Amino acid sequence: MKNKIGIFPGSFDPITSGHRNIIVKASKLVDVLIVGIGDNSSKKSFYSLEQREEWVQKTFKSNVNILVKKYSGLTINFAEKENAEFIFRGLRSSVDFEYEKQIAETNSVMNKEIETIFLLSDKKYGMISSSIVKEIIKNNGDIRNFVPKEVKIS
Ligand code: ADP
Repeated sequence: MKNKIGIFPGSFDPITSGHRNIIVKASKLVDVLIVGIGDNSSKKSFYSLEQREEWVQKTFKSNVNILVKKYSGLTINFAEKENAEFIFRGLRSSVDFEYEKQIAETNSVMNKEIETIFLLSDKKYGMISSSIVKEIIKNNGDIRNFVPKEVKIS
């Protein structure tokens, strides 16, 4: 039987406990979940692609159906290349929803066979964002409550 493949695309700059929570949920809905670390030309990242990938790899090293890959270009093209049927995204708020809805509808025009699925994180992770984590890092604060233990800032 055919494997059900989904992708979870994002910047993961850096990966947070909110991302991890959503990714584990998504991994239970498919046979293989590919976490796609985007090399987004219009979004300047704080950490290098390699550093972001390393943290994500380490976070999911014991999850057998979660693979981690880097990609550049359009997410829909990455999903097609990986033979994915689903794109998973997380929602924190109505602001996320409005933005994500536009992207999902655009992707669906480009390829109607690939469905976007939205998931909510557990309540305690709902407020975590990479931007807030970066702000804490820049101000030498303690990020341990907000990121997986594998994210080590030197
Ligand atoms: P992007 O730059 O593509 O938005 P992010 O790394 O910021 O990538 O986020 C990837 C996905 O994870 C997005 O769908 C985002 O809404 C979701 N996400 C991020 N943080 C959380 C959280 N705390 N709870 C639920 N979803 C989240």
